[in-house]
Amino acid sequence: MGTTPKEVERTFREAGAFLEGHFVLSSGRHSPKYLEKFQVLQWPARTEALSGAIAERVRGLGIETVAGPTTGGIILAHEVARQLGTRAVYAERKEGGTGREFRRGFQLREAERVLVVDDIMSTGGSVEETIAAVRDADAAVAGVAVLVDRSGGAAAKRLAGIPLVALWEVEIETYDPASCPQCAAGEPVRKPGTTPAAKERVR
Ligand SMILES: [Zn+2]
Repeated sequence: MGTTPKEVERTFREAGAFLEGHFVLSSGRHSPKYLEKFQVLQWPARTEALSGAIAERVRGLGIETVAGPTTGGIILAHEVARQLGTRAVYAERKEGGTGREFRRGFQLREAERVLVVDDIMSTGGSVEETIAAVRDADAAVAGVAVLVDRSGGAAAKRLAGIPLVALWEVEIETYDPASCPQCAAGEPVRKPGTTPAAKERVR
């Protein structure tokens, strides 16, 4: 496995993580495509290869710690950290509020150089919340790295100059349900992601 965007796309397709159909996203919008990152992350070898591509591209940033948002970010932060020879921490959703925080005794030094990693950057919300948690701890965000940027460049703009590594940039169209062409065609919609997995044989 290599590191070009085409190869990353192929990894997602081969793992069954790039789905086509009619989906309702967590935002409530509808889309004919859905990225189920855990279909990739369930394979340590695929996670290792993709994390290696990130590690290769952030080596010059002097990273001391890798931080990711729950849930996929835990797996990715751990493997990127393993390859960089650093530690990994993760930021959890604040209870009853917005934003994220470090718990579990995770502590960052003042000005510690942190790489924020995440699997899929859609609106960039989880990445921004993790950046805020790092800064709340007085540490420094030295870079951001994601497997997939599907924000169409919008999330990168909001990073305001923080170096960004995105292994694959993909445009995925979404629709308000009221103007969704698939709804208009009467196609049944399904909610992927957090719904219980169907009983299927693993290929
Ligand atoms: Zn629809």
